[in-house]
Amino acid sequence: MQKKALICGVSGQDGAYLAELLLNKGYIVCGTSRDAQMSSFYNLVRLGICDQIKLASVALTDFRSVLQVLTKIQPDEVYNLAGQSSVGLSFDQPVETLESIATGTLNLLEAIRFIGAPIKLYNAGSSECFGNTGEQPADENTPFRPRSPYGVAKATAFWEVANYREAYGLFACSGILYNHESPLRPERFVTQKIISAACRIAQGTDNHLYLGNLSVRRDWGWAPEYVNAMYLMLQQEQPDDYVIATGETSKLEDFVAQAFACVGLDWQEYVTTDSSLLRPTDIAVGRGNPAKAKEKLGWQAQYIMKDVVRMMIEEKQKDYL
Ligand code: NDP
Repeated sequence: MQKKALICGVSGQDGAYLAELLLNKGYIVCGTSRDAQMSSFYNLVRLGICDQIKLASVALTDFRSVLQVLTKIQPDEVYNLAGQSSVGLSFDQPVETLESIATGTLNLLEAIRFIGAPIKLYNAGSSECFGNTGEQPADENTPFRPRSPYGVAKATAFWEVANYREAYGLFACSGILYNHESPLRPERFVTQKIISAACRIAQGTDNHLYLGNLSVRRDWGWAPEYVNAMYLMLQQEQPDDYVIATGETSKLEDFVAQAFACVGLDWQEYVTTDSSLLRPTDIAVGRGNPAKAKEKLGWQAQYIMKDVVRMMIEEKQKDYL
């Protein structure tokens, strides 16, 4: 029997890579967008898989809409990747962020419980839940101290999933994923902003890049590997939560230096810090310990920050050929 997956937020970076992965595994893949008639599904087109996916319009904040799609598609697995995903934007749209993430996840859990079928749910959790980790890498037992409306919303959704698993026996998992990047990342995110600017400056079509705090430290991985961890979580005997990270943390400044070095430039000649780009509260250090994922899922990141930068630069440079 072919398995059927429903990916909520299929138009995004992770949705596109996950759809590709599941199609390659022989799944029937269905995906949702808030407005499937209007979305270009650019990422799916770019991966050459758009015509293989059944697409539906679903607003996760609308219970009727969620119930309808689950009843119609009858998926074996649901991947909830939808919701406002920018930490920066969450300071300007806190209610939209909370509702799209927390109410969206709750509606999925309630609908699965209501239907009563053995539907497995993956929830896109985030390392932003931890807040500052300091030098001690966070694992699945580390308390949450989020420092953004986005982190607060993700923490809420995490506990919703944990509660429904415990209270109603749902097969529901949260992946607590650290940052993961790819050529499909939009320029609103600082990593793609840096990659694009480095390439433009190298081509002579731009001459400067303005950034916020360069001393923040993050763990950056490669998105196509991270979606495999999502899939693996739903193939286990028991539902559980997992931290997904490379285990290597670098300064944003190192990411910038690496990107400019890839195009043969010294970043210090082109980058200026701009205090208007600072967030009201930010995470100084984000460190993750993916040991449980390695032990239980057999998952381990193959690519670390410098590989991610190189692969993003190589892909961006194709725009200039
Ligand atoms: P994207 O932003 O690329 O995709 C998320 C999708 O959610 C969008 O394509 C969009 O689909 C939908 N969406 C956007 N805004 C809203 C909103 N306000 N309300 C409802 N739906 C919305 O995210 P990623 O693919 O990068 O990430 C996938 C998930 O993983 C997200 O939940 C993200 O928060 C989480 N995550 C990502 C990390 C990363 O480093 N990439 C790290 C940790 C967690 P449409 O417009 O078609 O409706």
